[in-house]
Amino acid sequence: MKVEGSCYCGKITFEGEVDPEGVNVCHCTDCQNITGSPFRTSILTPAAQFRIRGTPKTFIKTAESGTQRIHAFCPECGTPVYATAISNPTTYTLRLGTLKQRAQLKPKKQIWARSSLPWFKDLSGVESHERGSP
Ligand SMILES: [Zn+2]
Ligand SMILES: [Zn+2]
Repeated sequence: MKVEGSCYCGKITFEGEVDPEGVNVCHCTDCQNITGSPFRTSILTPAAQFRIRGTPKTFIKTAESGTQRIHAFCPECGTPVYATAISNPTTYTLRLGTLKQRAQLKPKKQIWARSSLPWFKDLSGVESHERGSP
């Protein structure tokens, strides 16, 4: 399935081809910190199908395992755009919230569940408003 995405300010736009079965949620503490959110939702696109306009800023992140990955984000608005291997990338990991088609891409797998926030599974009883809270 073709996806199109952009950062919040629109300086960076991109497109890719994804397998909708490949959406995953990561509960690791690094993803919590980098995204500022309870978890990160991601999907891969093959490098051959990934096109980007605009030049993101990059950060090299070293995982607990020692693996280093490039994390790219918009230099203006800070939206995370992708992560990829340092050399010869074969895939780019896109961030679900940046994609126009995000509502159709339901997660199929969760990883690092051991650090998931204890409350994230049940927001159903939490006060809810169709728009911003009055
Ligand atoms: Zn931006
Ligand atoms: Zn993670």
